[in-house]
Amino acid sequence: MTARAEAGDTRIRVVGAMRTDIGRLRSSNEDAVVFVAPAEDSPEAERGYFALVADGMGGHAAGEVASALAAEVVRRVFFSLDQPTPQALKTAFEAANRAIFEHAADHAECRGMGTTCTAIVIRDNRLWLAHVGDSRAYILRDGGLTQLSDDQTLHAQLVREGVLTPEEAERTPGGNVILQALGTRPDISPTLWTEGLPLRVGDAILLCSDGLSNLLSDVRIAEIASGRSPQEACERLVDAALEAGGYDNVSVGVFQLEERERRSCADQATTQRIPIVDVDAGPPPTRVIAIPEGLKT
Ligand code: CA
Repeated sequence: MTARAEAGDTRIRVVGAMRTDIGRLRSSNEDAVVFVAPAEDSPEAERGYFALVADGMGGHAAGEVASALAAEVVRRVFFSLDQPTPQALKTAFEAANRAIFEHAADHAECRGMGTTCTAIVIRDNRLWLAHVGDSRAYILRDGGLTQLSDDQTLHAQLVREGVLTPEEAERTPGGNVILQALGTRPDISPTLWTEGLPLRVGDAILLCSDGLSNLLSDVRIAEIASGRSPQEACERLVDAALEAGGYDNVSVGVFQLEERERRSCADQATTQRIPIVDVDAGPPPTRVIAIPEGLKT
């Protein structure tokens, strides 16, 4: 079989679910989650499917304020902009950073608050990622889980620079120190994909806060999420994190890619292949990490 699927042969639809849980020890839930699946004919449909997880930090209820502001501002600004996806995400993250920073300056009880934010957009059968902090995005493909986000923590940075081995990082305290968060500085430099990752029917994208990824290994996450509906996968993943201790707030999202329609039935064997689609080139990024080589097909 040599034929390739042409643009439009396969349209992917996203079936997603998210769940957030206070956990076993915390007195409040400082995580926030958002999933927007625009109706097919709505003006928002052009912008794509959108989801994020934000993990707030700060004294008293300030972490909740920071993550709620991130969720609200990133979502609203992203959908209000008629820009290429990476540029819209960049603008939305900068707006959220400013909103949190200014709110903290105006409210003494919110001083020093901040939040992680990891956002995905699925559009034209491709995935875009933007993030600040250590909330994670993964792709689950053919039963294997690959992390797409780069943990912006001190230890992850030292491992990337070759100063620590992963094993040494595990043993050294202070690993969760986050290198940047929304709202703690006037300017941020989010990780931003300017190239969309081509997605296939059957792929699932996962988002989570560290309340999940600190307690469940990648292998365990893959085992639990594989073969389950997004809703069931979310429930089982949260339950597993709670059983493993649940000492932090736990948030997770699972977004499954399904075939929506088949425009040509001339060669049904090709409809599982990746369609060729036009991608907005977008402006230069503030910071780019490459799509993992193994996923570039
Ligand atoms: Ca957390």
